[in-house]
Amino acid sequence: MIKKYSKLVDWMKRYHKILTAVFSVVFILINYLIMRYLVMYDRTAWSHLMYIPIIFAGVILGPWGGLIMGILAGIVAGPFIPISDQPLIRQFWADWIFRMTIMILAGLLAGAFGNLYQRTRQQVFDLRLRHSDSLLLNINALEQMTLEKKKSYTFVSIIIANGDSICEVAGYHAYYEYLRLVEKELLSYDKDIKLIQPKPNHLWVIKPTGDLMKDIDQMLHILHQSATISDQRLFVDYSLGFTQKKHVQDTKLANYFIHSDIAAKEARMKNLTHMIYNDFDTLRLLSYELLTEFQEALYDGSLYLNYQPKFDLKTKKPSGLEALIRWNHPTRKMIRPDQFISDVEQTNMIHEMTQQVFRWSLDCQKKLNEKGVFLPISINISTRNFYDEAFFSKMMTILKEYDVKPKYVELEITETVLMENPEMSKAILELFANEGFKIAIDDFGKGYSSLAYLAQFPINIIKIDRIFTRQILINPTTQHIVKATIDLAKQLGYEVLIEGIEDKETADLLERLGCQSAQGYYFMKPKSEGEIITYLLQYK
Ligand code: C2E
Ligand code: CA
Ligand code: CA
Repeated sequence: MIKKYSKLVDWMKRYHKILTAVFSVVFILINYLIMRYLVMYDRTAWSHLMYIPIIFAGVILGPWGGLIMGILAGIVAGPFIPISDQPLIRQFWADWIFRMTIMILAGLLAGAFGNLYQRTRQQVFDLRLRHSDSLLLNINALEQMTLEKKKSYTFVSIIIANGDSICEVAGYHAYYEYLRLVEKELLSYDKDIKLIQPKPNHLWVIKPTGDLMKDIDQMLHILHQSATISDQRLFVDYSLGFTQKKHVQDTKLANYFIHSDIAAKEARMKNLTHMIYNDFDTLRLLSYELLTEFQEALYDGSLYLNYQPKFDLKTKKPSGLEALIRWNHPTRKMIRPDQFISDVEQTNMIHEMTQQVFRWSLDCQKKLNEKGVFLPISINISTRNFYDEAFFSKMMTILKEYDVKPKYVELEITETVLMENPEMSKAILELFANEGFKIAIDDFGKGYSSLAYLAQFPINIIKIDRIFTRQILINPTTQHIVKATIDLAKQLGYEVLIEGIEDKETADLLERLGCQSAQGYYFMKPKSEGEIITYLLQYK
């Protein structure tokens, strides 16, 4: 019953314009018949009824509709209705033309207001479906979207990892303009593409399925190409996830992005530009298998450390080492840390891993000390380690097994834990600092904390993330930010190190900007313990 009724409503909505025109004409004709044959005395008094269809048609059909109905009603209620049939007295021509003019005016006015109303309504409607800043479609729009049933579509998730930094560095306008440009370019690639912005730094694309490889190439090209906004080159750090769905059934469209989101996140974690969800079930399995093998690998020699030197930018001599974990898997060969650390961090094994890394680094330090080389070695501490209550005491127990001074140990931590749990982090860091350990903030600038915020923690070194290094030569704003960071950090008494230097120009520039030390492939890639000891001996 209800279904029947709603079908009727749908039908009426669909043909509402034709229905309005038919209703208005019929109303005018019926009114004519009433005036002509039923009314006894002042027939023209009934002509006022004509305003109902005139205004109605004006509002729904616009000024043209109002005009036509005004003329029709004016003529029908004019020469065709005599004042009296016996004797036949016609209306005075000027009277009915005057009335018709008023009717036309009423129709036109109603039409103008009707149009204004429709336009405002559309604007309000658009506002509900689009972000007011980027003007891209939002999640409401997605909910109202319908796709052609039983067709295949490609769903793409785009994560813009440094969206916030772009806003801070280049300004919100540049960021939103970039997003709009991407939309424009995507539409000129395929006009059926839909771009939705579910979150500020996240985009979703729906595209009728075509050649996937071509789509990937084209979208990467568009994201890269669009990054020049009024002569300013933006550095956009994006990762894409793709998934294809056959025979899309019209349920909640957002669900189709679950897989592309996973793929994009995985791509982001692995520092890839994109990933396709297909490869995925096998990948998940892989990480599960890896985790089961990890525990054993910690003790059988397949997990070990490489060391990357840090250099003093003035003297160009090594000033320290960073220990970086490596996994030489028996069948899968080298597995990079970003491929397993985030999985290990989800388990308790992360505590054992950090302790092993600490043992190995102390062992290397001891060997260096015995050969007369004394340089701090830093190890990476996982955020999760701070949530182990016995973390400090376990680390101290290990330190005591080796005859190494704490001042030669540096702990690299990221801002995350300090932001999440400042009180606890401060207490733990103070315990280490009091023993003489050095504390470094790793990947600084990638997160959201500021130097002012970090000042409450006992910190010695700020390591500026390599995301800045990558754009410093081409982006003057980045240069200013890095310079300001270096100056402020120095004023606060921190040593400043910059990560990821890959060429001489960047190294020279950073030296000029006042940066004290640096790390990067330009100076040296991570090397095995044996190689690094041999290398350092020449500086003894
Ligand atoms: P990270 O702490 O930021 O380490 C620096 C990473 O940058 C290393 O990658 C290093 O090889 C790489 N790198 C150094 N110079 C350059 C350069 O000039 N260009 C480029 N493109 N990369 C450069 P790696 O060894 O793959 O480590 C990746 C991440 O894994 C590390 O990032 C760190 O977060 C984590 N990690 C590594 N070892 C450990 C560990 O023992 N414990 C924990 N918790 N995390 C670790
Ligand atoms: Ca590090
Ligand atoms: Ca780092």
